[in-house]
Amino acid sequence: MLPFPIKRLIFYAYWKGMMKMFGCTFCKVAAHEKPARIFYEDEHCIVFQDTNPQAPVHMLVIPRKHITSLNENLDDDKMLLGHMMTVVGRMAKEQGIDGTGYRTVVNTNAEAGQTVFHLHIHILGGRVMHWPPG
Ligand code: 5GP
Ligand code: ZN
Repeated sequence: MLPFPIKRLIFYAYWKGMMKMFGCTFCKVAAHEKPARIFYEDEHCIVFQDTNPQAPVHMLVIPRKHITSLNENLDDDKMLLGHMMTVVGRMAKEQGIDGTGYRTVVNTNAEAGQTVFHLHIHILGGRVMHWPPG
């Protein structure tokens, strides 16, 4: 039998996880609980249309696992992050923007403009991009 403080710790972790799942828009998209135009999915990640596109092509690549941002300790997620980058390239090809070019963006925290706190890679293409970004 586990001591009470350990049980409480386990319950707390479970509750935190459930709350994240319950409240996170992109977890809902990944679980097909929220509708989205899905371009690609596998066991690790899912790619879907941004609801407020900033370019003719604007997709979001997210991990199925809830990761808040690049600020998390991601030592155990190197394979996942690498996989997501390979999916980016494949999606760009599929959408025909690989030749003309495209931009990938990961906003982290308020000053960068992160509004959804589930890690996502923006893929933007189909128009000329400017530099520096706004
Ligand atoms: P961020 O500002 O966090 O870098 O990017 C969040 C992006 O998610 C925004 O471009 C926003 O338009 C998009 N977005 C927010 N909520 C939803 C949603 O429920 N569904 C989809 N498909 N995109 C969303
Ligand atoms: Zn999430």
